[in-house]
Amino acid sequence: MSELIFFNPFFKQVLWGGSKMRDFYGYSIPGDHTGEAWVISANPHGASIVRGGTYDGQSLTSLWENHRELFGGMKGKEFPLLVKIIDANDHLSIQVHPDDRYASLHENGSQGKTECWYILDCDDDADIVIGHHAKSREELEEMIAAEQWDSLLRKLPIHKGDFFYIPAGTVHAIRKGTLLLEVQQNSDTTYRLYDYGRLQDGKPRQLHLKESMDVIACPHVSLNTRGAEEDHGDYRLCNLAEGPYFTVTRWNVKTHASISHNHPFMLIHVTSGTGTLNDCPVAAGDHILVPAGFGTLHCQGAMELITTHI
Ligand code: ZN
Repeated sequence: MSELIFFNPFFKQVLWGGSKMRDFYGYSIPGDHTGEAWVISANPHGASIVRGGTYDGQSLTSLWENHRELFGGMKGKEFPLLVKIIDANDHLSIQVHPDDRYASLHENGSQGKTECWYILDCDDDADIVIGHHAKSREELEEMIAAEQWDSLLRKLPIHKGDFFYIPAGTVHAIRKGTLLLEVQQNSDTTYRLYDYGRLQDGKPRQLHLKESMDVIACPHVSLNTRGAEEDHGDYRLCNLAEGPYFTVTRWNVKTHASISHNHPFMLIHVTSGTGTLNDCPVAAGDHILVPAGFGTLHCQGAMELITTHI
């Protein structure tokens, strides 16, 4: 009998973290500097753990290794996605990720990272870094060498409900006062371009300028993958991204909605509200794996869901 699989996150305490995940989702966070919740993770650095049901207490890693039928018999050594909630109480360093080709050549065969961000909440004056203003690779190198960060980095104001698609090669950074949901390729390959000159334990953190220069797309091309919002009366639907690594959709359910599912697996993130999924109670902060062959999902209630599949 096929069932919905709920997960408890793996939490990470970091200098720049905060306590919003407790306030927003009632999570038992380990402290007031909780920056990351790995809500769907089979990553060796921290796995999410099944809460309740047949697989209670098992990690997503163990499900992927021992129950491939839950994922439609998908091939591959690693579970393909990593989903996090990030609470930034300070600016995060400016980063860029390689694509699969560069990562496999230079990072021991690992994959690259394309990711996306959905803004769950933010301060009124919050902003984000996506891309840069250099017109050529020469200009990019000059501006980095001269540390002209203010004129180089492309900062955008953000609002709750905004969505950003960040292909490999895009300079990006989360900034102070932002709570977001991050869906990404399951990879740890990150190159740090700039860290605001900050010190950690008296020393600057390592930068990866050469690798960053190798992989930064130049000039930056801004991408809007978000489709028009469709109003279906009982619910509204918005395709946020549809790409080679993941498809992400937002559902604003007013009373009910049916979500068809014919993918190897689907992930559901309840970002606000409460209701039921096929009579199973769900609430804001729940992260659910819908296994292969589960069939159509019937949602009842008033809630916002983000669904992800590959
Ligand atoms: Zn990133």
